Amino acid sequence: MNSTRKKAAPTRILIIYTGGTVGMVMDDATGALKPIGFKEIRDNIPEIVKLGYEVEVHAFNPPMDSSDMHPEVWIELAGIIEKNYHDHDGFVILHGSDTMAFTASALSFLLENLSKPVVLTGSQLPIGEIRTDAKENIITALEIAAARKAGKALVPEVCIYFDYQLFRGNRSKKYNAEKFEAFYSMNYPPLAEAGITIKYQRQYILKHPEEALKVHRKMDPAVSVLKIFPGITPATVEAVLATPGTRAVIMETFGSGNATTAAWFIASLRAAIKKGLIIVDITQCDGGAVELGRYETSRHLKEMGVVSGHDMTFETALAKLMWLLAQKHSKARLRELLETSLRGELTNA
Ligand code: ASP
Repeated sequence: MNSTRKKAAPTRILIIYTGGTVGMVMDDATGALKPIGFKEIRDNIPEIVKLGYEVEVHAFNPPMDSSDMHPEVWIELAGIIEKNYHDHDGFVILHGSDTMAFTASALSFLLENLSKPVVLTGSQLPIGEIRTDAKENIITALEIAAARKAGKALVPEVCIYFDYQLFRGNRSKKYNAEKFEAFYSMNYPPLAEAGITIKYQRQYILKHPEEALKVHRKMDPAVSVLKIFPGITPATVEAVLATPGTRAVIMETFGSGNATTAAWFIASLRAAIKKGLIIVDITQCDGGAVELGRYETSRHLKEMGVVSGHDMTFETALAKLMWLLAQKHSKARLRELLETSLRGELTNA
């Protein structure tokens, strides 16, 4: 027996606790859920020790409800990961489910050439509740963050683990406020499913990058949203297009990218694009893609220079725009990048 053989280094995971229902308790005075500290969470999951990992914690103080999340915090999260990148094998971000898909999308762009897992999770019921989903979500998220094969992380991307499914972060959407299965990814298959074992679908997981991690530190929130609906008025459309400081508009359209053919609507959009506004067309449907020019009702949009969001989720389109606007790209390059898959966020035709 070789007694001098080195013991394998323990797997090191960093948990970043931002807040969310996972760490909330009922305030007796108001009857509303309010955040608690990470210590109470850890006290409720003694099983973490059994995993045998070295787990460090970076806890937000105070923890936040994810409805208060904003681009500055996304940048802060990217910075925390950068600072701890070399010392840790993986990262688990505990986050409220309401805006988890936005944060996951933003991080996917901010963390370029990621070769370690960044797994976001949370829960629908607080950790202290008897029927809580928090325990399973956290324990399996830790296992995914630690999973390696031949010295390499199995999931080198930003993802969301919730209710036995692992999704690409920038393909996910919170679709249910009641079910434990709060998320889905309509346009991309799950990266893994957890049953008795965790089954990874390696053909769907991003490949390891050739280059070193590059962390971006800028987001420009100069984005407005125009949701099309039957009966939308010229005043509403004009108000959105003329929002002060707006550089880009996400236009949420019907079906495969369609909108009214009313002359005033076409004229408003055309004038806004002429003035330099970027308009990205994404569908209000959760599944499927924009296909400009397929119908008469989107042909004009294509002709005037509306950008196709293909099958991007709203969350991803927003994060991608904020990230791209913060960089110095020409309009033509920006449009090209918007229509190109940079982190697996869209399916190129
Ligand atoms: N409001 C909570 C949040 O997003 C909901 C949750 O965690 O599920 O922070």
